[in-house]
Amino acid sequence: MNCAYCGKPLEESEEPGTEYTLEQEEGDPLSFCCESCWEEAKRFLDYSRKFVSPFLVLMMSLIVLLIVGAVVMPKVLVPLSIALIGALLFPFPFSTPETSRQVGLKQSISYARRGGCVLIVVAVILHVAL
Ligand SMILES: [Zn+2]
Repeated sequence: MNCAYCGKPLEESEEPGTEYTLEQEEGDPLSFCCESCWEEAKRFLDYSRKFVSPFLVLMMSLIVLLIVGAVVMPKVLVPLSIALIGALLFPFPFSTPETSRQVGLKQSISYARRGGCVLIVVAVILHVAL
């Protein structure tokens, strides 16, 4: 078992009840290696719970803009919507639950932001190439 935030392997706790855990709505409670990981994860999970719906609405709108844009004004709207999708991942670095379970929340946040960078670079290349 690894820390659900930083991904460090967890040592078996000798005294039960001393480990840092967070209950989830679905699945097993998350376990953490230390108090700071626990606090960071709690803050991020509260934040994502609050913003996941607006994030998904924005993401859907941008995907619609991308599809419509590809038909009506590909030169402008395709790079623009891709860049905005990338930019959206900076304030909202949400990835799939599978990713955060596999690599820990901290890594999944940095993957999401790196993905955002890649999308912005792709948008710039498309803008130049189209
Ligand atoms: Zn940790």
